[in-house]
Amino acid sequence: SDLSRLILDRIRDVPDYPAPGVLFKDITPLLADPKAFAAVTDELAGLYQVDKIVGIEARGFILAAPAAYKAGAGFVPVRKKGKLPSETLEASYDLEYGSATIEVHRDAFVPGERVLIVDDVLATGGTACAAVELVRRAGADVVAIAVLMELAFLKGRERLDDVTLHSLVIV
Ligand code: 5GP
Repeated sequence: SDLSRLILDRIRDVPDYPAPGVLFKDITPLLADPKAFAAVTDELAGLYQVDKIVGIEARGFILAAPAAYKAGAGFVPVRKKGKLPSETLEASYDLEYGSATIEVHRDAFVPGERVLIVDDVLATGGTACAAVELVRRAGADVVAIAVLMELAFLKGRERLDDVTLHSLVIV
């Protein structure tokens, strides 16, 4: 589609970031292009009827917040451990070296609220999987996860077997 071509055209491949051998997908050219940023925001906002849109720190915030505004939904941040001020729920997941922990406020959702989770890139799926667990434990209903770009070779989709994954582009 026109949107997937626009996204592919505005995402830059950066070799050896953040570590040797990794080809990083840099979304900053897309964010800097008002037409592309608006097209992505409008697409995310129109995917599902939801009460809240969750953004995963940090690039997920940039996409989720304007989508929530446009959709007339609330915005909820899922943050790295130690950043949220009130009572939280936490979920940990394994990284290549060590592990990571993310949090959400315990009272971020009204029970049964419909939620879309947004992030920029789905790689191994560890982050998205932990975010789904957190949102469910906080009492909400995860309608779907939406990402700008899915890196299919990392098979993240296989870890998200009980939730809808909507990728604007799959590479
Ligand atoms: P995963 O947990 O799926 O392995 O990694 C996904 C998380 O790491 C996302 O929050 C995403 O922002 C970040 N990430 C991993 N690889 C890339 C990449 O190539 N480009 C960008 N922009 N983010 C990435």
